[in-house]
Amino acid sequence: MPELPEVETTRRGLEPLLAGRTIVHIAVRAPKLRQVIPTSLAHLKGVRVTQITRRAKYILIHLDNAKSLIVHLGMTGGFFKRTDNDAIQRHDHIVFYLDNTDIIAFHDPRRFGLMDLAPTGDLTHHSALADLGPEPLEDSFTPAILRRMLGARKTSIKAALLDQSVVAGLGNIYVSEALFGAGIHPESPANTLTAPAIKHLHHHIQKVLRAALKAGGSTLRDYQHPSGELGFFQDQFAVYDRASAPCPGCTCRLNKTGGIQRIVQNGRSTYFCATKQKLSP
Ligand SMILES: [Zn+2]
Repeated sequence: MPELPEVETTRRGLEPLLAGRTIVHIAVRAPKLRQVIPTSLAHLKGVRVTQITRRAKYILIHLDNAKSLIVHLGMTGGFFKRTDNDAIQRHDHIVFYLDNTDIIAFHDPRRFGLMDLAPTGDLTHHSALADLGPEPLEDSFTPAILRRMLGARKTSIKAALLDQSVVAGLGNIYVSEALFGAGIHPESPANTLTAPAIKHLHHHIQKVLRAALKAGGSTLRDYQHPSGELGFFQDQFAVYDRASAPCPGCTCRLNKTGGIQRIVQNGRSTYFCATKQKLSP
């Protein structure tokens, strides 16, 4: 599932295609994705896209009629430019026709994506956005804030970091990578981490996200950039999807430890090194 770096990379790819363009009309070709697609989308005509921003894993397409489209890519959602109507594909569920004759399709084979329309002034109260924690790459995300958020949680640190109300935009990949970088065992109860360990974790969350953004995100099985270009961060994964492999820059010995371990927490895979990553440091 796309996480912050992939969603931000999608936003950056979408911006030159949509920003400043007027929507001639939108064809809604499916009744629902994760939720019912509002019929108001099909009535959007002659409105201009003013800017495209991101909050957590949501892309926000702001319009000059004081409304905004809220988009979540789900598991397999993405935007693609189509050359003409004949090029529209089966899973292009929402298609934007623009004043420069461009056709931009929201393509989502598994239909876990979301598209909603809401007044721009009320976005912070929208059910998708109201309970989100701080953006991890903004100044509002500090070690002190992270410490306060984690202090109230008895769940594992892995589960706490996946909780979008603690910090917004992280998912399975970047939580595994940040915990490895910080040397924190994923099963550590969130409220047992010391202040120095949390400061270290804060640093590694930002470091891994910045590195992934620089690489254009990770190209995942079901996820592609609008341009069709690939992201390259998957080549830099230290632990994610690398069970039994040696972990980079670690003192653990493969023949003794069996390499990177995979465990399942709350139904999701976690990858870690049991030597480097300590319980409740
Ligand atoms: Zn190791």
